[in-house]
Amino acid sequence: MAIESTEGKRRIIIEIKKKLKLTKIQLQWVRAHNGTVGNERADALAKLAASKDKIDTEFGPSEAQVRYRDKVLLATKWQERWNNLAKGSWTKKFFKEVKFNRLYCHFYYNQVLTSHGVFGAHHQSLYGKEGGCPCGEQLETIDHILLKCKIWGKERDDWPKCWLQKDISDLVFYSPFKKGAIDNLKKLMSSRLTS
Ligand SMILES: [Zn+2]
Repeated sequence: MAIESTEGKRRIIIEIKKKLKLTKIQLQWVRAHNGTVGNERADALAKLAASKDKIDTEFGPSEAQVRYRDKVLLATKWQERWNNLAKGSWTKKFFKEVKFNRLYCHFYYNQVLTSHGVFGAHHQSLYGKEGGCPCGEQLETIDHILLKCKIWGKERDDWPKCWLQKDISDLVFYSPFKKGAIDNLKKLMSSRLTS
C-alpha cells in the first residue's frame, strides 16, 4: 500500500507501479503482523534489507530532498555574494542575512531601505549630477533627509526626540517611523517633480 499511495518520483517506485498494472496483482492493506503468510514474508525481507549496510537497489534523493538541497545551496551562494558585495552597504545595515521570504515592495519605503531614489547622493552616483542638499549639506542622502536636514526639521518636530538619538538601523522597521519616513518621501518626490 505504501507503493500505491506514494507520489514519489523515484525510478524504482514508478517501475513497480508500471509492472503492477500489467499483472492481476491488487494491493490491499492488511494489519501488520497478523499472521498472513505474505505479510510475514514481506516483513522478514524488509527487516533483512534494513540490517544490511548496503542494499541492492539504489535510491536517489527524492524530489523534495533535491528541492531542499538546492534551496540551501542557493541561500549559501546568495549569502556569500551578499557578504562580498562591495556595493549595498546602506541596505546591509538592515539586512545582514538573505532570506527568501522577505520581500518589500513599497515604492517609497524601498527608497529608504536601498538609498536609491530621489536623493541627490543617488543621482550623483548614478548620473554624475550635483549631489548636494538645498540646505547646503554636501551630500543629500536618505539618512541626512530623514534625521538631520534642517529643511525637514518641521516634519521631525512631530517625531519623538529619542528617534534622533538612534541609529537608522534601529528605526527602519518601527512602524511609526516608517509612516513618517514615507510621508517625508512623498513630499520630497512631489517637490522635486514640481521644481
Ligand atoms: Zn539638507
